[in-house]
Formats: sequence, structure tokens, C-alpha cells
Amino acid sequence: MKKKTLISILIFVLIAAMGTFSLSYATSVSDKQDELDSINQQKDDVSSDMNALTSSIKEQQAEIDKLQGTMDKKQAEIDEAERDIEETKRNIEERQDGLDNRLRTMYKNGSVGFLDVLLGSNSISEFISNLEMIQRIYKNDQNTLTTLEEQHQELEEKQTALKNEKSELSQQKAVAEEKQSALQSDKKALQAKLDELNAEADKVSSEIAGLQDHDKVYTGGKFIWPTTSSTITSPFGFRIHPVTGVYTGHTGVDIGVGMGSPVYAAASGRVIIAGPYGGYGNAVVIDHGSGISTLYGHNSSVSVSVGQNVKQGQVIASSGSTGISTGPHLHFEVRVNGSYVDPMQYFN
Ligand SMILES: [Zn+2]
Repeated sequence: MKKKTLISILIFVLIAAMGTFSLSYATSVSDKQDELDSINQQKDDVSSDMNALTSSIKEQQAEIDKLQGTMDKKQAEIDEAERDIEETKRNIEERQDGLDNRLRTMYKNGSVGFLDVLLGSNSISEFISNLEMIQRIYKNDQNTLTTLEEQHQELEEKQTALKNEKSELSQQKAVAEEKQSALQSDKKALQAKLDELNAEADKVSSEIAGLQDHDKVYTGGKFIWPTTSSTITSPFGFRIHPVTGVYTGHTGVDIGVGMGSPVYAAASGRVIIAGPYGGYGNAVVIDHGSGISTLYGHNSSVSVSVGQNVKQGQVIASSGSTGISTGPHLHFEVRVNGSYVDPMQYFN
């Protein structure tokens, strides 16, 4: 009688303890999930800030490029004005030389000059007519010179104005570039924050994986094949890793499948990891009970979230090549109480 009571008490204590255990298990998993949700929320915030910054940077770059384009055009105009100025200068010098020569000839050697023309006049009327002609020639030369000098002056002014415009543009560009570099460093800071959050999320995900429900019994029977392709490009076991070149155990099977193919839950269970997971890239881990979990790695995207219950055959991700991967494939892994086992034994 006494022994029976003792056993009863023991059983009662045991049941109470088990109750407390599963309660504390549930609490810690849900706490961890809350923590993960909050990290993911922060990640979303930082990501959207980064997207906004990225488009600002793009706009700023377009502004800089536009300013540079305008500056290049201005420079071409400045160069053209420079060429025009040179040409006008040459014309002025030529005209000046012509005028000087004529005057020299006129006063010095006297053979072919205005004076000869005047002195060779046979009558007063011819003299007047010749004088008028000479005055016209002289006036014409003077007018041409004046026009050329005015043109020269205008061109110089135009070039100065262009140079001023260009220097103003150059100042605007400097301001735009300064703004751009500030945006770039903001983006860098956000990237660092995002990396930190990713690391934190990975850590919490692993913690959740560690809290896997070992009491739940697996009753799912055989697995279904997790993707549309049946080509195994690398089997479970020991091999030389294609990326690191290190002789290592391959923890799962690689199934060669194109980018964006559906990835199916091999069996029903609860999602314990959904998102970036170290070298596995975008991964999903499903807890099936009895300590059995499946992992689906290198996805381009995942379509489930931590804590979600999934049915066998449900689409959980889209295949890809994220993480440490040489090309699009699905890395499928089965763990029993955390140890890697050959996944092939779970299929028919
Ligand atoms: Zn693999």
C-alpha cells in the first residue's frame, strides 16, 4: 500500500514535470519566434530604407551625368569660340598688313600708290573722282577692320560667358558629387546594419532549430520527392567539395534543377527555419517530429515562414543558387536528432 502511494506520487511528479517541460519548451520557442519576427521586421525596414537610398543614388548619378553632359557641350562651344577668335585675329592682322603696305607704298616708293593715282589725274574732275575712289578704298578697309575688331570683341565676351557658365556647372557638379558620396556612406552603414541583423536572424534560427520538438512522433510514412527534377548531381556521402575543394562529407543530396522550380515539403511538419541560413543560402527547415527534420537549400526565394505548419507536397520555396553554390540546384538534407542521414532511404 505504501509502495503504491509512492509510485503514484512519483508518476504525478513526473507528469507535472513533463507538463512544465512542454510548457517551457513552447514558451521558449514562441519567444524565439517573436525575437526572429522582430529581427525580420527590422530587416524589412532597413531593406526598404536601402531601396529608397539606392534609387536616390541612381537619381543623383543621373543628375551628375546630365551636368557632365552639359559641361562637355559648353567646352565644345568654348573650343569653337576659341577657333573663331583665332580666325578673326588672323583676318585683322591680314587687313592691317594690307593697309600698312598700301600706306607704305603710297608715301615711300611712290610708284604704285594713291599719291601716283592722284598726281596722275589729268583734270580736276578726274582728280576728284580718284580722290573719292581712294577715300572709299580707305574707308572700306577701315570699316572691315572695325567690323573684325567688333567681332573679335564679341567672340571674346562670348567665350568668357561660356567659361563662367562652365565653372558654375562645375560647382553644381561638385555639390551633387558630395551629396552622392554622403548617400553612398549612408548606404554602407545600412548594409552593415543589415549584415548584423542577418547574422542575428541566423543565430536565432539555429536556436529555434535546437529547440526542435523531439517529443512529437513522426507518422508521415515515406517522403515525396522535393522537386520537379530527379537528376542527382551529387549524392549523400564523402566527396570533394566543388567550391572549397576540401574533402568533406556531403550532408545531403544535390538535385540538379533549373532556377525558379517549385520546392515541395517532403513530408508534413512545422517550419523551423525560413530564410538566409549561412552557406545554405535561402533555406527552409521542416521539423517532422521524432527528431526528423528536412532541409531545402540554395533557394532563390522561400514562401513559408517560421512556425508555419506545412502539408506534404506543399510548395515551400523556389529553387535557385543562393549561398555556397556553383549553379541552380536543390540541396536536400535529412537529419535525425541533428545527425545527417542518407535522404534516399526515406523515398520509395
Ligand atoms: Zn549539396
